[in-house]
Amino acid sequence: MSTAWFTKALLPWYREHYRPLPWRETRDPYRIWLSEVILQQTRVDQGLAYWERFVARYPTIMDLAAAPEGEILRLWQGLGYYSRARNLLSAAKQVVQDHGGHFPADHAALCSLKGVGDYTASAIASICFDLPEPVVDGNVYRVLARIFGNGTPIDSTAGRKEFRALAAQLLDPKHPGDHNQAVMELGATVCTPQKPLCGQCPLANKCIARKADRIAELPYKAGKTKTRTRHFNYLHIAVEDGIYLHKREGRDIWQGLWELPLIESDRPLGASAMAKRIALTIGPTAVITAKHGPVKHLLSHQVIFAVFWTCVLPKKARPPKGWVRVSWKKLDRHALPRVMECHFQEHRPESRGGRKPYLRPPIH
Ligand code: SF4
Repeated sequence: MSTAWFTKALLPWYREHYRPLPWRETRDPYRIWLSEVILQQTRVDQGLAYWERFVARYPTIMDLAAAPEGEILRLWQGLGYYSRARNLLSAAKQVVQDHGGHFPADHAALCSLKGVGDYTASAIASICFDLPEPVVDGNVYRVLARIFGNGTPIDSTAGRKEFRALAAQLLDPKHPGDHNQAVMELGATVCTPQKPLCGQCPLANKCIARKADRIAELPYKAGKTKTRTRHFNYLHIAVEDGIYLHKREGRDIWQGLWELPLIESDRPLGASAMAKRIALTIGPTAVITAKHGPVKHLLSHQVIFAVFWTCVLPKKARPPKGWVRVSWKKLDRHALPRVMECHFQEHRPESRGGRKPYLRPPIH
């Protein structure tokens, strides 16, 4: 199949209409990699400020590789998907230790960096090193599925293979970087999921979905990923000038971030059931004085129902291992998941006009 028409229509459109973003003004793999990692699952308008902060704080990959993980997580706060931030640090260390501080100009070697998959490796390889590697992200799936009227499920192994092969066939070997960015840009700004701007599309006269009125059904997905529902019971235990926190460990969401001490349950708990669970965790003398929530928090594959239980500990009580007293002044030095950030925006002394918030009578 001749595919020259694709890039012939697309490249001039891209060169005239692309959004001038700072990572498009450079071919520095470090800055481009940073933008790719930040922009996965994040809108450009939101990601831009993060990219600027990272570049300002860590101008080179050496600076990033030498940074403490807590500091990176803190800078990442609000973007979610914190494993990406941890991978950022691991990959930076790999580039410094194994490649002398230079990104390798090779797709397979790029894929061996922590957190770098086919998509990011292809973006870096094509944009920075002119290597003919096709990029396939959500925008590319949408554009290709619609233009070619391809209904193969994009969430199947066969679909992923088929679309990658199609993207490779279409790729302009003389301008792989611009070509890849052009397809992604078309998907991001014109061929949008809802109400695409077909009147402005440089490929409209070739688009099968438009001609056959199949835009709404493409790209096709076979099945939705299952969503897990979780119930988080947070213990808000204020001490004189601060609060108890603990750091999340293990292979779970928000690894390495700080949160209130947590009791997870498989269903919503009432006050008496919660009191029993607290007794098992910190002893029977803790008293619940208030409850706030549930607050619903959506992640990509999880729904969290967070309930905040305010408790009072007797002065001599010994908190469990892993709990750390953090003063209100130092709270902002800790990387927090979004659900905690929102909680503390409302429930810290200065946000309540200096009033002590949790001195209501016990609830049962
Ligand atoms: S014509 Fe419309 S549906 Fe087809 S690729 Fe262009 S914007 Fe997308």
